Amino acid sequence: MEFIDLKSQYQASRELINARIAAVLDHGQYILGPEVAELEARLAAYTGARHCVTVASGTEALLISLMALGIRPGDEVITTPFSFIATAEVIVLLGALPVFVDIDPATCNIAPGLIEEAITPRTRAIMPVSLYGQPADMTEINAIATRHGLAVIEDGAQSFGATYRGRKSCNLSTVGCTSFFPSKPLGCYGDGGALFTSDDALAAAAREIRVHGQSRRYVHTRVGVGGRMDTLQCAIVLAKLERFDWELAQRQRVADGYEALLSGRVQLVGQARDRTSAFGQYTVVVEERERVQAELHAAGIPTAVHYPVPMHLQPAYAHLSRADACPIASIMAARVLSLPMSPFLEDGEARQVAQSLLRAVRVPIPAAELASEPV
Ligand SMILES: *Cc1c(COP(=O)(O)O)cnc(C)c1O
Repeated sequence: MEFIDLKSQYQASRELINARIAAVLDHGQYILGPEVAELEARLAAYTGARHCVTVASGTEALLISLMALGIRPGDEVITTPFSFIATAEVIVLLGALPVFVDIDPATCNIAPGLIEEAITPRTRAIMPVSLYGQPADMTEINAIATRHGLAVIEDGAQSFGATYRGRKSCNLSTVGCTSFFPSKPLGCYGDGGALFTSDDALAAAAREIRVHGQSRRYVHTRVGVGGRMDTLQCAIVLAKLERFDWELAQRQRVADGYEALLSGRVQLVGQARDRTSAFGQYTVVVEERERVQAELHAAGIPTAVHYPVPMHLQPAYAHLSRADACPIASIMAARVLSLPMSPFLEDGEARQVAQSLLRAVRVPIPAAELASEPV
């Protein structure tokens, strides 16, 4: 069993992907070739945002968004401590201060009720993360931001394709950022990312920043970065986009299968009714995680921990806030466990994962459920 099954995904889209790659090799425009603009138009339409700017990675999307918003040394950006390190890293790289606000234990996303007390005269932006693929409480977060004149940057690296009250992730706030890292819901075969906005000036700034702040050839209007996504990677995402909605439906099927067998028996990361998840990860909450993970491993089931240490306790970041600043994030970091998730995981495999997990956490499996299982 694979934790994320990229081989099956390639086999399912092999002809489309190979044809797209061959087209790029034939025209030879490897940097900012026609597939880049084509992908940007397709993804903007997909999310409903006016602009999509492809960039070198999800990290670069976050960095360029902050640069386009004019985040400067001394500014504060409110974010969650429970994410991949890139979320806080880009804030620190710009000389700004990440202000960590604790999470909601039900969803593992930033707790909107704690944001307002963290706002100071230096606060410039709020950066929620749509963790495991599920958007954060964007209505509440946007309302706080509007009251205080702040920008909201959604880190949607795990949630492309998810919806929140009928709108697509990455089109829920001032800017939305995503990643096309191979294991993300919509991945390429290298590094890639994109930012989305309906603000014309912000999009124009982001386009300049990704090419060294260049407004015309060799005229550098602002300080930028080398942050383009290459044409081949854009071509691969274009090919994968053809089956993406089918894949999202399959991820939902696998999640439904897990939930049917685990709900009420194991603590699950809660899914709010007004939004859908892209299920970048399917995550449960367990005690004695190391033992549970070892027993699953022995049963041939791969698992992963996202993330074992919250960002405010990471060695390079610990001096920025108090160690006890985010107790819920610290507790969840010790207990979360992500199960295999892929559009190609079969119902029988999901059942095998769920039953092995129930055995590992010593929850009895009803005989009727076992009877249906050819063991
Ligand atoms: C993957 C990820 C990133 C970084 O994306 P890259 O493309 O790897 O740079 C940022 N934030 C979150 C929440 C992620 O999961």
